[in-house]
Amino acid sequence: MQYAQRIDEQSSSNLEALLAAPKAGQVSFAGGLPDPDLFPEAELATGFAEAISQSGDTCLQYNSAAGYLPLREKVAQHLQRSGVPATADSLMLTQGAQQALDLIGRLFIDPGTNVVVEGPTYAGALAAFNAYQPHYLTVPVRPDGMDMGILKTQVQQHDVRLVYTVPDFQNPTGTVMSLTKRQQLLALAEQYDFMIVEDAPYRDLRYKGVTMPSLYELDHKDRVIHVGSFSKILSPGLRLGWLSANPELLTRLIDLKNGADLESSNLMMRGIDNYLQANDLSAHIEQLRQSYARKCQTMVTTLQTNLPGNVQCSNPDGGFFVWLQLPRNMNTETILATCSDDVTFVPSTTLYASGADKSGMRLAFTNPSVTEIKRGAAILANTISRAMTG
Ligand code: PMP
Repeated sequence: MQYAQRIDEQSSSNLEALLAAPKAGQVSFAGGLPDPDLFPEAELATGFAEAISQSGDTCLQYNSAAGYLPLREKVAQHLQRSGVPATADSLMLTQGAQQALDLIGRLFIDPGTNVVVEGPTYAGALAAFNAYQPHYLTVPVRPDGMDMGILKTQVQQHDVRLVYTVPDFQNPTGTVMSLTKRQQLLALAEQYDFMIVEDAPYRDLRYKGVTMPSLYELDHKDRVIHVGSFSKILSPGLRLGWLSANPELLTRLIDLKNGADLESSNLMMRGIDNYLQANDLSAHIEQLRQSYARKCQTMVTTLQTNLPGNVQCSNPDGGFFVWLQLPRNMNTETILATCSDDVTFVPSTTLYASGADKSGMRLAFTNPSVTEIKRGAAILANTISRAMTG
């Protein structure tokens, strides 16, 4: 069978395995799955039933590639509340944030185009961009966001077209980009003529501290495409995300969405719109924050109590992930092989575009119960201790 050349060059992303449900008896810190007990099932059921019963003839029809206007208006209001000045007219609704990344890749990346990603980064962004064969430049993530000194050198030395960043509770390290770095990044974008993709699905899930201004708000030169999603704040099964961009880019991205799938599901958009009409999304998110804050604290405390001193354990202010950095000579794939009957996680190997580093691990704390987190984190810490002494 003859495939397109780029297919042979790509290795499998393993994303599907990541999102699989844990096996019996296993505690999974692997996939970034929300807690299903927090899905507003009854309220969504009402929203979807009403969509069909009250406007079946329109919601079962085609709508538009930009997405159902009343829902775009509600998404814009939601974003404005958290400091992202999007409007119904700047937004396009997508099949999850993932489709937004794919369409952005389609718009900007030729084979060999220089794309800067954080190291480590979101594996799904690499999977989306890989289809367009970029040349990746990796900039390390520090506790206050990507290393601006290294980014500057990269953009001075290479003709960079796109910088992809997750500035709020980064996937996978959980870090937040500081205000100074946000300003530096925007200044570099203007000076060296590149676009920034601000991928922010975790932005609302802050458990302590104060929300940073978004890159989208700080940007006055149309350098930022903001990407977001209902996946982490409502449900990933809805497959509803968005991007916000300047009018020229938006027109092109809408065109590309037409080619990809014509439009997102009209029924889905109307059901969610009804849900948002009848319920308080901010109050729902507050519930998530309280539950996830407790899980995060349990994870960090259990790990810090049981881990050897030379393993760095992050203590994130929000999001889904705790990051463990082991000494650089350690291989977390080997550790995973030892403990995967009891506990799983994502080894850092697949989270780097280039120069893979095997010594980190991403632990998602949102899906397991508090009891499971205590058990899984203790087993994991003991496995790491044994691997380091053995
Ligand atoms: N971006 C980031 C940083 C993510 O973590 C995820 C989900 N894991 C996505 C995008 C894709 O999310 P969605 O379900 O909205 O497609």
